[in-house]
Amino acid sequence: MTLKRYHEKRNLGETEEPKSGDKSLGELHFVIQKHAASHLHYDLRLECRGVLLSWAVPKGPSLNPSEKRLAIHVEDHPLDYQYFEGTIPKGHYGAGTVEIWDKGTYTTPDATEPKEIEKYIKLGLKKGHFSVVFHGERLKGEFSFIKLKETENEWLLIKKEDAYATSEEVIPVKKKS
Ligand code: MN
Repeated sequence: MTLKRYHEKRNLGETEEPKSGDKSLGELHFVIQKHAASHLHYDLRLECRGVLLSWAVPKGPSLNPSEKRLAIHVEDHPLDYQYFEGTIPKGHYGAGTVEIWDKGTYTTPDATEPKEIEKYIKLGLKKGHFSVVFHGERLKGEFSFIKLKETENEWLLIKKEDAYATSEEVIPVKKKS
């Protein structure tokens, strides 16, 4: 059971964090949560085969292709975590506030069909590299995930040069037209 580590780390009767979540039909979702824990970081989560694959990104994602952002692969989270905002109480794992920073769907450069995407991502996790295309409000376009060799869980998250790449520091929410 892939959520075992998630449950081991938490006392879910005592925080409002989700326990599970039903698999959505159709497109695959992603979320980025700004998490003001002991160290502020951004949690990037990709829906894949009924769970959220999760990375903690200390500096958050960047739309600048020359910025390589460290992303630490952490335990899978339940699907309902993509909707979670709130405060994890003091004394609990990850204590602090969680707010949704961006959300949307994702695909890959070569696949738009969920089953194909999931297969590609699972293979990419083993190989140590894969690319996704975010369709979010802040994050758009292609990003590469590249695992650092000789580490257990450290990856780099890098924006690919495309129409959404920019060297601007702040990533605003683009108004929908
Ligand atoms: Mn976190």
